[in-house]
Amino acid sequence: MDPGTSSPPPAAGATQVEGSPRQPGDKLAVFWNEGMLAHDAGRGVFDSGRDPGFLDVLDQHPENADRVRNMVSILRRGPIEPFLSWHSGSPAHATELHSFHSAEYIEELVQANAAGATKLCEGTFLNPGSWGAALLAAGTTLAAMRHILDGQGNMAYALVRPPGHHAQPDRADGYCFLNNAGLAVQLALDSGRAKVAVIDIDVHYGNGTAEGFYHTDNVLTISLHMWHGSWGPSHPRSGSVDEIGEGKGLGYNLNIPLPNGSGDAGYKYAMDQLVVPAIDKFQPQLLVFVIGQDSSAFDPNGRQCLTMDGYRKIGQIMRSMANRHCNGQILIVQEGGYHISYSAYCLHATLEGVLDLQAPLLDDPIAYYPEDEKYTKKVVDMIKNCWNESIPFLKDI
Ligand SMILES: [Zn+2]
Repeated sequence: MDPGTSSPPPAAGATQVEGSPRQPGDKLAVFWNEGMLAHDAGRGVFDSGRDPGFLDVLDQHPENADRVRNMVSILRRGPIEPFLSWHSGSPAHATELHSFHSAEYIEELVQANAAGATKLCEGTFLNPGSWGAALLAAGTTLAAMRHILDGQGNMAYALVRPPGHHAQPDRADGYCFLNNAGLAVQLALDSGRAKVAVIDIDVHYGNGTAEGFYHTDNVLTISLHMWHGSWGPSHPRSGSVDEIGEGKGLGYNLNIPLPNGSGDAGYKYAMDQLVVPAIDKFQPQLLVFVIGQDSSAFDPNGRQCLTMDGYRKIGQIMRSMANRHCNGQILIVQEGGYHISYSAYCLHATLEGVLDLQAPLLDDPIAYYPEDEKYTKKVVDMIKNCWNESIPFLKDI
């Protein structure tokens, strides 16, 4: 709780910079455009947008500009700053969106934007400024992917909002309008990458991305999420272990629903026992790491209890898989994460991990929540048995 713990002593940062084996210029490229702050989903009782009339203070919508302002500022002013380069994103063209979304759905969004403020589905509000921000989020993610595909760098992070992983080919869902990661994956496929893996650690099921690639074996989608319920007609309960893809894609959608409170040790176990073996079998040419800090210990929308240490370890595992299979190429795409300050800290830790910085650059300001990984380990072992029996390419993991 000592504010002094939020910044490392200068010497610690300096040691890390000098001690890093990384080459000059081998930085993580952050793609950002402040126009994305223009999306304002309003206020209400949590994310409903409703004012019951008897509360003096209403919540900001969880997916608000402040959370991302803090993500930008911690990366610009935190100790990770020397390891980053900054790049500006620009809006996607409507035609670029058709690679993942139906033309009818895009037209629906254009019309909704022209008509003014509207609620598209539960918790998802398209207000003046929202469509422009959504186009910027998609375009910024595509720019980050192009950075990798064009050989300008191996690591890129699309710091974007509104988020995208619930957006389905033909409908908005869960604060998401356009599937930023899905568009980037399709761009990689269209650019000649034969195998792309998506690993989504946002606390919610990445249902939109899964749906977009459900029938293909070119894209392995893996989602680690809280076993959460439906939030309305756009999102019936889904994300179970037995949703494994269809047709050619059978076996190429892997869901890892984890018990509430899984915590750092539980997530590490799931990564080691399930994700790493699956990726080693699949051998992707590019990794897309979809991150949401709503799996943190203090997120209003999640119950998974990850701390900065857990995020850092997951980031390190991602980097080692990218090194092993993808020549170090990894695109990171921002999704949820709704605690205004802790999300920024957890982001910092995740990127420290991806950069493979050996010592933590930043102390955890609030990690103290208890975790019990015993139940999570049982669940992970059960999922592993399911995969052995039902996923042909994972019979012997
Ligand atoms: Zn989420």
